[in-house]
Amino acid sequence: MTDKATRRGGAAVSDPKAAGATSSASGLTPAQAGKGWEYAPAPESREIVSIAGEYGLFVNGEFEPAKKGQTFLTINPATEEPLAKVAMAGPADVDRAVAAARDAYEHVWGPMPGSERAKYLYRIARILQERSREFAVLESIDNGKPIKETRDVDIPLAAAHFFYYAGWADKLDYAGFGPRPRPLGVAGQVIPWNFPLLMAAWKLAPALAAGNTCVLKPAETTPLSALLLAEVCQQAELPPGVVNVLTGAGETGAAVVAHPGVNKVAFTGSTEVGIAIAEAIAGSGKKLTLELGGKAANVVFDDAPVDQAIEGIVNGIFFNQGHVCCAGSRLLVQESVAEHVVDRLQQRLATLRLGDPLDKNTDIGAINSRQQLDKITELSAAGEAEGARRWSPPCELPKKGFWFAPTVFTGVSQSHRIAREEIFGPVLSVLTFRTPEEAVTKANNTPYGLSAGVWTEKGSRILWMAQKMRAGVVWANTYNRFDPASPFGGYRESGFGREGGRHGLAAYLDV
Ligand code: NDP
Repeated sequence: MTDKATRRGGAAVSDPKAAGATSSASGLTPAQAGKGWEYAPAPESREIVSIAGEYGLFVNGEFEPAKKGQTFLTINPATEEPLAKVAMAGPADVDRAVAAARDAYEHVWGPMPGSERAKYLYRIARILQERSREFAVLESIDNGKPIKETRDVDIPLAAAHFFYYAGWADKLDYAGFGPRPRPLGVAGQVIPWNFPLLMAAWKLAPALAAGNTCVLKPAETTPLSALLLAEVCQQAELPPGVVNVLTGAGETGAAVVAHPGVNKVAFTGSTEVGIAIAEAIAGSGKKLTLELGGKAANVVFDDAPVDQAIEGIVNGIFFNQGHVCCAGSRLLVQESVAEHVVDRLQQRLATLRLGDPLDKNTDIGAINSRQQLDKITELSAAGEAEGARRWSPPCELPKKGFWFAPTVFTGVSQSHRIAREEIFGPVLSVLTFRTPEEAVTKANNTPYGLSAGVWTEKGSRILWMAQKMRAGVVWANTYNRFDPASPFGGYRESGFGREGGRHGLAAYLDV
């Protein structure tokens, strides 16, 4: 299987001759490969968004410059065009934001009845819905992800989180944590760049519903949607200080989590930084939740419905350019169907459209930063150097911006770096197995434990696999499904604590 699969591709994707060879060798006509009928461009208009030249920090309900006047630039990763100058928060700004959050906690938000807090959360949720197109366009521009994902996934799910936790705000007594569970105080929250608005919603909504106030630090490369959310907080007349947004770099995040006025720390990002945060706050009494990396196995058995499994594999690793902590980055496919599944997968990948994130037909957008592109490039080169076979469909990469073609490695062994390390890009490593026991052993052969997928028509096998696989979330005959009512999180090097559902409230209550 793998030899044949390799002969089909492995060409440099920017080389049109090689790309053509790949296409014809795949046995597809150009039309079947998605190259025959060009879609007309269908760009979403940028007009709905007005990006300011410069943004301040959101502290105590107002936008203001950083005390030291420092700024950094945020760019559009699809074009490298500068978008805006953004304030870089330093220690004095962190002090101000934490003091504002403390004051709001003690005098306004903490004492406020849950039924009143709920009204603000509902209002934020509704405004997010009303301004969803604006958010979707802004997120695509600042992050590089396709508009169809921001429009259909990020923004609706962010609004859904606020709606969901608004419903809990006046029912905390009945959440199963005993009568009158108390909030923790000020939450310091640090989020990554892969789902900027959604991660902000995952952090803010449960914290606010439980009666905490927040200091949020968005990622350096994607600050704009968090700043627009701050505007939404103003629009919703959220009392000043309840939500504060401090833009900046890693040092800003480190200062937020280490601040003595912070009672609770919530972090999503790399395992490396998660460990540094855990060390920095050890012994401080701060409550901590960490949502870190992953190297999930997506396991396809020989009785799986192939069409659905192919869609699940594609969604598992190529959704959001693979910048997903729970991405199905290791495909474990039963040996007897491996050749067929890889063939079908390659045919499907040839139809994916890579390009302008604002085009409604785009499937694969830009890589979020040059740094991330370098990491993906380096790990993919390591895959080749270690002997795995590399394949990409024919696709032309735009000249400007950060781009990486969807890539599949076959002939991968468990010791390869591409089978062990989180690549966080559109790169799939294919391994095979013969028996369910072998599938479980290989799936669990990772220091992570965030998510997994299983594809089979046998319900009993799904349940057996779900019990055996060490992962916080196991999807069966689907992948990358999220719902605010469903807890999400991992263990081992994927972190601890849960976000979403009733469990997500526990992280923000003194229980
Ligand atoms: P980081 O973990 O460095 O960044 C996540 C957030 O933490 C950002 O807001 C970052 O700020 C901030 N931060 C950085 N250093 C510190 C610190 N010492 N204390 C507190 N906060 C800090 O991820 P990267 O963006 O650097 O990505 C590196 C790798 O991490 C990726 O290649 C990917 O493999 C993995 N990753 C995993 C994610 C996941 O959800 N599992 C999400 C993002 C990345 P700033 O943006 O300014 O650096």
